[in-house]
Amino acid sequence: MGLETALPVDNILTTQLNRVINWARRSSLWPMPFATACCGIELMATASSRFDLARFGAEVMRFSPRQADLLIVAGRVAVKTLPVLQRIYQQMTEPKWVISMGACASTGGVFDTYAVVQGVDQFVPVDVYVPGCPPRPEMLIEGIMAIQRIIDSENIPRDPDGKRRPLQIAIEPNYAPRPQPVGVSIGAS
Ligand code: SF4
Repeated sequence: MGLETALPVDNILTTQLNRVINWARRSSLWPMPFATACCGIELMATASSRFDLARFGAEVMRFSPRQADLLIVAGRVAVKTLPVLQRIYQQMTEPKWVISMGACASTGGVFDTYAVVQGVDQFVPVDVYVPGCPPRPEMLIEGIMAIQRIIDSENIPRDPDGKRRPLQIAIEPNYAPRPQPVGVSIGAS
């Protein structure tokens, strides 16, 4: 769905125009934060000056789904909250992408209870899973960059009936956790 569906195919002008459209799309992702728990704090940190999500053109958080094309689910989702998440996803503009940030959003995490959704991908199509509890901002940025690469290559899979299929990309941890507690030394040796 979108502008390209109204354009003729196999035309050099159309191909170049598609490249420009994809460049514009990937350079101006507008995230819709669905932050329900601690992962949301890391999401906020990602937009802060230290990690500076603006470098990737994705810092314009929108709290109106109709103005957003990247849903970031950060934190556990209660069964009671699920209809809100689904409504937000449905109201977002096409083409749209979904990131599941953290163990809780992807699997329920430590909250193995009847009240918590055990993976939002059962209810919305997740394109990128960002692991961690919580994931560091660098990992979220990795996930956003993965979506940008997909937009660049126009590799948006669709079913035969034209419906969008989730990409289901799993991000690898990009840092090695240090054992805790970290040893300290006092004075010069
Ligand atoms: S994955 Fe960890 S940090 Fe994120 S919401 Fe769940 S408990 Fe909190």
